[in-house]
Amino acid sequence: MNGNLYIVCAPSGAGKTSLVGELLKADPQIRLSVSYTTRKPRPGEVDGREYHFVTEPEFAQMIGQGAFLENALVHGNHYATSAHWISEQRAAGRDIMLEIDWQGAAQVRKLIPEAIGIFILPPSFEALLSRLPARGADASLRERSREGHRALREESERSRSTTGVTPALLLESLQRTFGPETIFTSDSGNGTFLAMETLRLERPGRLLSPVDYSCMGYAVPAAIGAKAARPEAPVVALAGDGAFQMTGLELLTSVSEGFPIVVVLLRDGELAQIAQFQSTAMNRKTCTVLPDLDLEAFCRAVGVEHVPLERDEGISAALSRASAASKEGRTVVVDARVDYSQKTWFTRGVVSVNLGRLPLKDRLRFIGRAVVRLVTG
Ligand SMILES: [Mg+2]
Repeated sequence: MNGNLYIVCAPSGAGKTSLVGELLKADPQIRLSVSYTTRKPRPGEVDGREYHFVTEPEFAQMIGQGAFLENALVHGNHYATSAHWISEQRAAGRDIMLEIDWQGAAQVRKLIPEAIGIFILPPSFEALLSRLPARGADASLRERSREGHRALREESERSRSTTGVTPALLLESLQRTFGPETIFTSDSGNGTFLAMETLRLERPGRLLSPVDYSCMGYAVPAAIGAKAARPEAPVVALAGDGAFQMTGLELLTSVSEGFPIVVVLLRDGELAQIAQFQSTAMNRKTCTVLPDLDLEAFCRAVGVEHVPLERDEGISAALSRASAASKEGRTVVVDARVDYSQKTWFTRGVVSVNLGRLPLKDRLRFIGRAVVRLVTG
């Protein structure tokens, strides 16, 4: 009788190698297949024990000869499992274990349907994340990201708005009120960068945002789509007041089709992202002021609840009201008078990076023009 074929797969950092090592010690009848790879041996690795180390041409030749049961390209190196060795061992009645990546596993399961797949999950997504930095490569990047988050938090504390709602505080309160399962959507504009800089997301798939920064009016329809896909999750659209004028009427779809969402309208009366670039680079704004909108009347017309929010002191009450309405299945618009006088780090970064890239002559001309405008108004 043929031996069993077990395929063990796991995400990086889940502890697969240690588990397989323990199993092999506990049951010497099981054989582990030694893969072929074009990767260079690491210190302490022995050819034929950890891997069969082969060159690229040798690997290509073996593929041509049909020597492999599966092969995969992982992080720029090829890996493969010997077809001959597996069939020989199984024919002799030995149980075989393959410790391979998911691409290889899919190929083997097609060829050998009776193979038994074992996928090792980490105890939680958080546990997986916490194990990943131990692998070293991006540890410094994570540390820099943590430092950046700390700096942003301190800055938002220092620069609280005296005239309106402080955006960073609003987004933090939103996360606290609606919880870690919340799916956020954003438009393309200042709110997008605000979301990226301020939200602290613990799980993937919790921020739907246009990646090329050229998709105004994305937040509301994306939120309705997210709600249709995940009815149990709270969905919060971070809508710009410019973008909202393009797709705000989609709230009719939200109401008529029964996809209740929370729209947080980041209302600054401008196309803020463009206005910030204009004022930073040229000391003047052109065509970025929005006509005023009677949002209360708009909400009444489309049948959604209107929650006004003028100042930081009102954030908590407004969000509690929005959360309660949302739990009862109603769509809500939180009309937040945001104060965008504090520029996002994205805006500051783009301006300084672009300026830095210009040749000295152009840089001086650029700064000179800005200074003249500052003086002459
Ligand atoms: Mg705006």
